[in-house]
Amino acid sequence: MANDWLKLPPNGLTRRNFLRGAAAAAAAIPIMTEAKLAWASQQTKQFGANSTGKVLLNANENPLGPSEAALRAIDELGARCGRYDFNAAVDLAKLITAQEGLKDGYLALYAGSSEPLHFSVLAFTSAAHGLVCAAPSSEAPGMAAAAANVPVHYVPLRSDYAHDVRRMAAIDPNAGCFYICNPNNPTGSVTTRDDLYWLLEHKPRHAVVIVDEAYIHFSDAKTMLDCAVADRDVIVLRTFSKIYGMAGLRLGFAVGRPDLLAKLQLYGMNPLPLPGMVAARECLQDKDLVPTRKKLNASIRDASIAWVRTQNFGVVPSQANCFMVDVRRPGAEFVKAMAKRNVYIGRTWPAWPTHVRITVGTEEEMQLFQQAFAEVAKLS
Ligand code: PMP
Repeated sequence: MANDWLKLPPNGLTRRNFLRGAAAAAAAIPIMTEAKLAWASQQTKQFGANSTGKVLLNANENPLGPSEAALRAIDELGARCGRYDFNAAVDLAKLITAQEGLKDGYLALYAGSSEPLHFSVLAFTSAAHGLVCAAPSSEAPGMAAAAANVPVHYVPLRSDYAHDVRRMAAIDPNAGCFYICNPNNPTGSVTTRDDLYWLLEHKPRHAVVIVDEAYIHFSDAKTMLDCAVADRDVIVLRTFSKIYGMAGLRLGFAVGRPDLLAKLQLYGMNPLPLPGMVAARECLQDKDLVPTRKKLNASIRDASIAWVRTQNFGVVPSQANCFMVDVRRPGAEFVKAMAKRNVYIGRTWPAWPTHVRITVGTEEEMQLFQQAFAEVAKLS
């Protein structure tokens, strides 16, 4: 297993090379996460820092939180939390490997998927081999690349909101890395497997495709895990922060060829949080959890989108736990006006400055969202 800490240094690296590589990799490039961006957007006078009593629809979290079984497992941990418990990581990696039909050594666990995303960008790009992303899409990979002085090429989504893989493949013959978020954050739009497969076939020979499947469980998008297992130049990222409601517990993983995963490990191999590991185990063993939550999210999301459309605002069709509304004015102003009414919605993206992202909350939260939205929409 790539997370078998006892076999350090991993995958054939000598200890000396590993330490040298790690020193070179340890440039001071902060990891940018959804959480940090959401937090930053709350740090104004009106918003305050305390989230008590606020309707938080700004960070694509799951308002349901961890499952009951996951919470029970955490409660029972007690003094076990005083241990690093490396075996829990090995066991969890084995469970995921079996459930997803992976091969041994093709999985690396992390405390969330922000870390392996950041590390992948640093590992597979350079000043000469840039990053190619969609716009709008998750900002994190572009921020990692820019901080490392790596050129970033942004390619607009297609008119059907899928990634424009043909334009992405053509934009930089020396590209080192392509970032695909499927479904995409912030739009919730899906890119077909055929398109992703096409990108794998037509990308520059040495480039690696990162497929970020953070939101895949909410959607009918097809996974690319099998391409990672088939030794293609692809890293697939998953997180327990979304459908499993475990953002605060920190668990995620990367799947890819062992030689690709070894490159990520140069940037850090922190032990994993035990509460996150036991909670993840419970989630994976509950066969009803994903379909139940997928259905609930879809029904609240679709009802919310339908309501926003009745107010004559355009909404991008979504298969995730968020959706984009065109508020036809600077989105940042709309976000502030909503926050004054205690409803915190997501930010805007430079590519679409009049769109705001709304995370799907509970039914009650979406009622409060509707009240605030109707008031703010009337302001000129
Ligand atoms: N990818 C995308 C597209 C995300 O939106 C997020 C978080 N919102 C992540 C990865 C990673 O989240 P985490 O670090 O909590 O696993």
